[in-house]
Amino acid sequence: MTLDAHGSATAPLRTDVLIVGAGPVGLFAAFEAGVIGLSCQIVDALGRVGGQCVELYPDKPIYDIPAISSCTARELVDRLMEQCRPFDVPVHLEQRVETVERRDDGRWSVTTDRGLVFDTAAIMLAAGNGAFVPQRLMLDEAAPLETRHVHYSIANLADFADRKVVVAGGGDSALDWALALRAVAQRVTLVHRRNGFSATASSVDQMKRAVDAGEMDFIVGAIGALNAPGGTLESIDVKQAGGVTTRIDAGHLVVLYGLVADLGPIATWGIESVAGRLNVDTSNYETSRPGIFAVGDIANYPNKQKLILSGFHEASLALRKAFSYAYPDKKRVHVHSSYDTKLAERVAATAH
Ligand code: FAD
Repeated sequence: MTLDAHGSATAPLRTDVLIVGAGPVGLFAAFEAGVIGLSCQIVDALGRVGGQCVELYPDKPIYDIPAISSCTARELVDRLMEQCRPFDVPVHLEQRVETVERRDDGRWSVTTDRGLVFDTAAIMLAAGNGAFVPQRLMLDEAAPLETRHVHYSIANLADFADRKVVVAGGGDSALDWALALRAVAQRVTLVHRRNGFSATASSVDQMKRAVDAGEMDFIVGAIGALNAPGGTLESIDVKQAGGVTTRIDAGHLVVLYGLVADLGPIATWGIESVAGRLNVDTSNYETSRPGIFAVGDIANYPNKQKLILSGFHEASLALRKAFSYAYPDKKRVHVHSSYDTKLAERVAATAH
């Protein structure tokens, strides 16, 4: 796979199938597309592949993937990436799919929030519960300070060199970034609403050791106010137990409260849906808009089970119908993978 973050292109990227979502179902769909001779590209709003598996439960074991008695969610994603490798599928990360438009030639034009445009014969929505977006700070004064002073991710540690930084949150991201920022920032203060963390034990230990060594600060409390006279963040008020407010001098606040899913723009595409899930025809997982398919958690049909293996099956059937949009004049001949010599050659060529 070719991973590309922040990519932008001037000409539309032409493909047979555009897969929206690099969760387990989107990744398997990419493999299946290659097997049946379809080109594809994947887009995901996040900065890494894996969807819920990597964002929500990377180290938990999964027991119900056929023929794998147990593997962690992260291992499953690694295996799916490995399986796709023979097809070298381009993966465009940090690109949230926004708009879709039917072209005069019957193909689709799909645009992302960063300006990538795809020209595709079919669209495979493997978008789960929607795009994961950071949970935002619920303070009115936060929005105008976003990007300059209030951050929901860190792209470059050097941006915080010699700055006073507050990191808010108690999960792995918050602790890991707070620890990493120590190396460059003038001072780092971690703020979390309680003295217990949802981060891995080793990160918690490391953070406590750093606090004991005076390398960073930790305060139990909630972000109460951002003091930014003239639009420049100068200090942050932290509300603590017993009505105490502590003011911390800081020019930057990094909020790492985790991610929430948001179906977002896909909800406006005119696809029939029920409670944020897209209705599909279970013979091919096509939505009410011909050429747009929904597979995995985003699909809605009677007795739908939100399981990874259900998504694999759905993707496999959907791609067979997608083939007819990409190649209307071609008859697809089914070959079992065990007899597919071209596939065997590809797999052999990319094996370690
Ligand atoms: P997701 O994994 O949700 O991935 C969707 C991707 O689409 C996301 O990365 C998102 O960023 C992206 N996306 C959405 N909208 C856009 C957009 N507009 N533009 C760009 N990108 C977009 N299932 C099992 O089978 N076995 C288990 O043991 C199991 N355990 C679980 C444990 C937990 C704690 C949880 C939360 C779930 C578990 N599940 C399990 C369920 C399983 O993880 C889901 O069924 C599976 O992740 C669905 O895969 P998906 O690819 O459809 O969607």
